[in-house]
Order: sequence, then structure tokens, then C-alpha cells
Amino acid sequence: MTDQRNTLQPGIPYHFLHEQEPDEKGNLQEINTIFLTNKGCAFNCVMCDLWKNTLTNPTIPGDIVNQIDYALPRLPEAQWIKLYNNGNFFDPKSIPPPDYAGIAERIRSYRRLVVENHPKLCGKSCVEFNEIISGRLEIGMGLETVHPDIFPRLKKQFTFGDFKQATRFLKEHGIDIRVFILLNPPFLTDRDENIKWALRSIEFAFENGAGCCAVIATRPGNEFMEERQREGRYVPPTLDALEEVLERALDLHGGRVFADTWDIDFLSRCPHCFQARKERLRKMNLDQKTYPAVACGCSGE
Ligand code: SF4
Ligand SMILES: [Zn+2]
Repeated sequence: MTDQRNTLQPGIPYHFLHEQEPDEKGNLQEINTIFLTNKGCAFNCVMCDLWKNTLTNPTIPGDIVNQIDYALPRLPEAQWIKLYNNGNFFDPKSIPPPDYAGIAERIRSYRRLVVENHPKLCGKSCVEFNEIISGRLEIGMGLETVHPDIFPRLKKQFTFGDFKQATRFLKEHGIDIRVFILLNPPFLTDRDENIKWALRSIEFAFENGAGCCAVIATRPGNEFMEERQREGRYVPPTLDALEEVLERALDLHGGRVFADTWDIDFLSRCPHCFQARKERLRKMNLDQKTYPAVACGCSGE
């Protein structure tokens, strides 16, 4: 794999932003999200391009705390914080355990902390960290899809059994669960099949205790995906498919569902309706209800 990593500084987060999200009661929460710079994830799932914003060496204790200290004064007040690290928070090479206490100290005013983690890394360190933070811990896991033929080909290095075990373990310890679902994983190219499997995956996540699901439109962001796209074995989703998944997932009433709108400009096919449709998705995320579709003279893709 050609290394196309962006140049990052270990003491500075590679990005941070302020956003909003409804809680389980529908109350809008202000959220500060910090994208931490750290050592890249060791799992190498085939569709992942998150490693582009990571480092090759293990994170040195102190760097993560310095990054939080850098971002927080530049962010407004908020009730929740997300510390996303393009990998797994409980991988000690990414977030060194000696930094846990400093992190907990920095975020003590936040009522909820959301981090990302792999199901196989959901164990004792999650529980110990949960005990030292003042807010509630929520762990996001990339389930991606429950399609039985596609899932093993993503090389996630866990089984559905591992996923269930992780969700049981987290629930037993009072830790909330968020699940990431892919729309259009590689090897599944039919539009309606993709919508069907995204919805099934969301249902599975809710059945296993997820409080919310985020649907992510896959992109041809690495060599593997570009190669599959050339072969016709991967097609990026269309905006209308993402819209349909969110509409139908909200109808399930299994929990909160969000269409990830952070990086979807590549789905734009029409300069007239794209921004209005993105804004509709954003509003549907916030209000957890469906709004009338945006009318436009284009094909609607
Ligand atoms: S576990 Fe997550 S961050 Fe790691 S390679 Fe897989 S998708 Fe990427
Ligand atoms: Zn249009």
C-alpha cells in the first residue's frame, strides 16, 4: 500500500469541531468533537482510509492530553465531547493508558464522552476508564454490515458473536453503545440490496443494545476501494439511497439514527439540490423525523 498519510503533529489534534446531536429523549446536545492525532489502527479493514490522518509510531504519553489542551480553549461550551482517534481508543499504542487520568481530568465538565473502539478491545480498560470519568461513557463500534457474505470480506477481525459479546459486556458495565453502519460496502453493488442490508444492520445493532446508529456512505478513499471500483465490485452510494436509508431507519423507531453528513459532498450529482438535500439530512438527524423530500428537476440520484 502506498503511504499517503497527511503530515500531522503529535501535540496537535488534526481537526476539531462543534456539532449538535439529540440525546435519547430528543433533547439537542451541544458537542465538541476532537479528532486526535495518534498511531494508526492495527486492524487494516479493507475499506478503511482513516489511517491517512494517523501517525506510524506509538503515541507518546502526554501527547493526547496536550492535544485536548490545544483544542478545548478553541471550542465553545458543550455538554458532550467526542474524542475520535481514527482507530480504537482502548488500543494502548494509540491512546497510552498513562494518559487516561489526564484525559479524565480535562473532560470532567462534560456529561458524556463518546469514543471509538473495536469489539475485541472492549474489556477491562473500558471499565476502568469509565470509573474515572465524571460523565457517561459511550463506545462507538464499526459493525459495518451484517451481510453474511460481505462482512468476512471486510477483514474486520471480529465475528458477530464477538460483537454481541462486546455489547453485552459494555451494557453490563453501564457503558452506552453507538454503532457505525456502512452504506455500500465493497462487493455489494445493487442499490436496493445495499439499502436492505444497511437497514438490517441497523436493526441488528438496536437488537443488541445500541442507543444510536450512524450510517456512513462509503467512498473510494484507498487503493483497495479504487481497485474494486475499477473492477465494478464496488460502487459508491447515491445521495437518494442515503436519504432512503435514513427515512426508513427512522421509521423503525429502534433508537436514534444519523446519516453521517461530515464528508458527503462527493455524493453531489446536482448543483441545484445537493445543499438543500444535505441540509434536510442534517435536520432529520437533529429532529429524528422525516421531512418532505427536496423537489428538483434532476434525476434525484
Ligand atoms: S477498526 Fe476501524 S479504524 Fe481500524 S482499520 Fe477497521 S475501520 Fe479502520
Ligand atoms: Zn437536483
